[in-house]
Amino acid sequence: MPELPEVETVRTALEPVLHGQQISTVRLTRQDLRWPLPRNLSAALTGQICGLPWRRGKYILLPLLPSGKTLLIHLGMSGAIRLYPRQPAHFGKHDHFSVELADGQWFVFSDPRRFGHLDLLESGKEDAHPLLSGMGVEPLSNHFSPAYLDRVLAARKQPIKTALLDQRLIAGLGNIYVSEALFRAGISPRRQAGNIVGKRTERLVPAIRATLTEAISAGGTSLRDHVQPGGEIGYFVQNLKVYGREGAGCSVCDKPIKMLRQGGRSGYYCPNCQR
Ligand SMILES: [Zn+2]
Repeated sequence: MPELPEVETVRTALEPVLHGQQISTVRLTRQDLRWPLPRNLSAALTGQICGLPWRRGKYILLPLLPSGKTLLIHLGMSGAIRLYPRQPAHFGKHDHFSVELADGQWFVFSDPRRFGHLDLLESGKEDAHPLLSGMGVEPLSNHFSPAYLDRVLAARKQPIKTALLDQRLIAGLGNIYVSEALFRAGISPRRQAGNIVGKRTERLVPAIRATLTEAISAGGTSLRDHVQPGGEIGYFVQNLKVYGREGAGCSVCDKPIKMLRQGGRSGYYCPNCQR
């Protein structure tokens, strides 16, 4: 599932393609993905000029002029975006939403499992959208600090890993980067969230930032290597230290990495390095 760095990589790739371009054709094959799509989606997009795409959590937001609407794109579990220099020779059966731009390029959103979503909202009122309202701070913004984490984690009895996955506290973190950030900070995913305030949040905040920044940078590298038209944007080889490495030697102490199920999700950690 794409997390913040993958979504940011997609956003970065879309920016030069979409910004300032008029949408000339919309190809929509269904009226629903995870949820019903706006009834007038094709008509609302056709003829609009794309502004600068931006990101909130795991959502991409594309402002449209002159309508003053914003297109919300959520990749969900399996959604992928591909770009083509001209109309693709054929569309795949999961290519549910495609857009032709005035310069002839095509943007194709495919979603085999249909956990993705598209919606239209009023630009400037993003925070009122049901998927975006109540979303926590952006972890790469200045609002994310040890003081913020101390405040929101205080008195929380759940494990720290579960708290970090809560999108109402921090936007955009998922299973992979939470495992990686906790390893980097030397904090056990089992530790009670309310008990990490103080010194540990001072380690955890920079660990989360560095983990995300490195992954975004890896995404940028993959974009430069991304020469094949129609290649998926946003999935790239990551240098993961613990995630998915059960039984492998820890890169620091060489003891085996352990898998841990918490809240129905698998996490990975080094019991020796993370306390
Ligand atoms: Zn270790």
